[in-house]
Amino acid sequence: MGTPDSNDKNNNNNNFFNKNPLITFVIFSIVVIVIFKIFVGSGSSSNMLSQSLGSAQKTEAITYSRLLNLIKTKQVQKVEISNTMIKAVSDQNGAKILYTTRAIPGDNSLYPLLNKEHITYTGFSESNWFTEMFGWMLPFLIIMGIWMFFAGRMQKNMGGGILGMGNSKKLINSEKPNTKFDDVAGAQEAKEEVLEIVDFLKYPGRYVELGAKIPKGVLLVGGPGVGKTLLARAVAGEAEVPFFSVSGSSFIEMFVGVGAARVRDLFEQAKKDAPSIIFIDEIDAIGKSRAASGMMGGNDEREQTLNQLLAEMDGFGANVPVIVLAATNRPEVLDSALMRPGRFDRQVLVDKPDFEGRVEILKVHIKGVKLADDIDLREVARLTAGLAGADLANIINEAALLAGRSNKKTVSQGDMYEAVERAIAGLAKKSRRINPKEKKIVAYHESGHALTAEITKGAKKVSKVSIVPRGLAALGYTLNTPEENKFMAQKHELWAEVDVLLGGRAAEEVFLKEISTGAGNDLERATDIIKSMVQLYGMSDVAGLMVLEKQRQSFLGQGATQTPREFSEKISEEMDEFIKQSLNEHYEMVKENLTLYSGAIENMVALLYDKENITGDDVRSIIEAFEKENGMPSKLSEVSDNIKDELKEDASMVKHDKELK
Ligand code: ADP
Ligand code: ZN
Repeated sequence: MGTPDSNDKNNNNNNFFNKNPLITFVIFSIVVIVIFKIFVGSGSSSNMLSQSLGSAQKTEAITYSRLLNLIKTKQVQKVEISNTMIKAVSDQNGAKILYTTRAIPGDNSLYPLLNKEHITYTGFSESNWFTEMFGWMLPFLIIMGIWMFFAGRMQKNMGGGILGMGNSKKLINSEKPNTKFDDVAGAQEAKEEVLEIVDFLKYPGRYVELGAKIPKGVLLVGGPGVGKTLLARAVAGEAEVPFFSVSGSSFIEMFVGVGAARVRDLFEQAKKDAPSIIFIDEIDAIGKSRAASGMMGGNDEREQTLNQLLAEMDGFGANVPVIVLAATNRPEVLDSALMRPGRFDRQVLVDKPDFEGRVEILKVHIKGVKLADDIDLREVARLTAGLAGADLANIINEAALLAGRSNKKTVSQGDMYEAVERAIAGLAKKSRRINPKEKKIVAYHESGHALTAEITKGAKKVSKVSIVPRGLAALGYTLNTPEENKFMAQKHELWAEVDVLLGGRAAEEVFLKEISTGAGNDLERATDIIKSMVQLYGMSDVAGLMVLEKQRQSFLGQGATQTPREFSEKISEEMDEFIKQSLNEHYEMVKENLTLYSGAIENMVALLYDKENITGDDVRSIIEAFEKENGMPSKLSEVSDNIKDELKEDASMVKHDKELK
């Protein structure tokens, strides 16, 4: 696949020019210069001179006084004068001689003399060696410039020479990676989600016979360096299929139309080699939605490329075992057309590693490095909260370089610490690493959400609590599973949601005696919920059953926009008062509960600080133990039998996936 011989087959026709770019260049230039000379070149001054003066057989430089003499003695017939030069032709019995001399500045005696002797004279424009040369070189320079510009671009974008243009096929190479899932450490959830794809690529026949529809496109979402590329390669490696890798941005910097042509070739090649994987890194470069890319006059090239990509994905049937994996760290800017069914209708989140994940990644990268006895990878993992896999790989390499520089035989823990320090200093600006103080604040904040969710009736159960930053905005998160597939909420459930949202900030205040900016979004959402209860759902006494706002589906059906309706100043004031007061009441209540459960919170924070990710079950068992210890009546709200069954089903599905592996 993609070996040099398969490349050669594709371009027999212009082999010669491909192999001899210099000769091509020379031929091309000569042709251009000849054309240039024919159409433009006759304007050159030296040509004009020889034309007007006829073809002189001899040129002779003479003095000015000799020229005056020649004129007086009628030995010259024609004279041309410029600012600095005078040329005269003498034609005696067919023997032409061209005399040249320097003009004398300010001398006006020549013209009366010429008039008197009836000798024709004209002026001519100066031509010195420089302008002469320049006249010749200019077309050359232009050609060279154009040539180098395009050659450079083509080389950069396609890894080939200029004449590989329109013949992009040979430049799309595939490989068969040796990467396995074991090389991708820590990303358990993401790996489980792509397992099915491996199975499909390995045994496409099974699925085709069943008539099953297999996803064509999977979007790998995650920040830089978290291992999206690595995971994609591992899928190809596990399935032992060819891996076609391109970067979204490489489609864009080329001429209009080339990007689309390249997409076509890419899919053609991948289908020929099916089962296979196409990996598009940085898909946002082509897949940016028109709104997100701004109205900068549109980008034809990008749009054409995107349309071609969509057409290709729609084009092959569900039974063609080609899977397109694409990576992005900004899924929100992607054109929604990309996410439609049959395209990238699946998203796999590749998160930054938690504590155990970092230990695993360090273990993978430490292979082949000679270690001193004092190495403690868990300690390194502890110091690197918030860093991605790529950063950890760098740290190990840096440590090995440091050890090498000081001529040591093994890498010590001291080298590791120094490498960590360097990495963190390098990353400080991007603030990707969470410092211990922040980590503590976030741990309390998230524990506050989690505990409130578990002891409040009507709140959604916790499925995961994390203090690993996801994206740039969120420092941590608490995932809740809805009790049922819900399209409707009861009043007490909305209040429960408000409580859970307030829980984060309340925990900061109760346990840290200080509040951070981290709760901003929570408060906004809590306020919005209460506002909707008043304005939309008729759930307060302020407006009673009167709906103050109309809900309107936005044009594309994404989210609802609201048009404010007229309502009185008085209601508006009352509403503000109601929102403020209920937020206060609920906040106080939440704080009270957190204080009551402070022991449980402390345990949760300790565990979270250590492991960075904990499950809903962890949260529940901590609360249960705490309640038992203190002889408290259990506030843990019950999970309905119905849900328990569903959860069991989920668990068995995960187990089944693992068996596949
Ligand atoms: P992304 O595509 O998400 O930007 P990459 O897959 O290119 O990140 O990761 C860069 C490098 O970081 C990988 O080649 C690998 O060495 C290392 N790396 C990242 N994540 C992991 C991981 N989970 N396990 C092992 N190595 C990792
Ligand atoms: Zn919060």
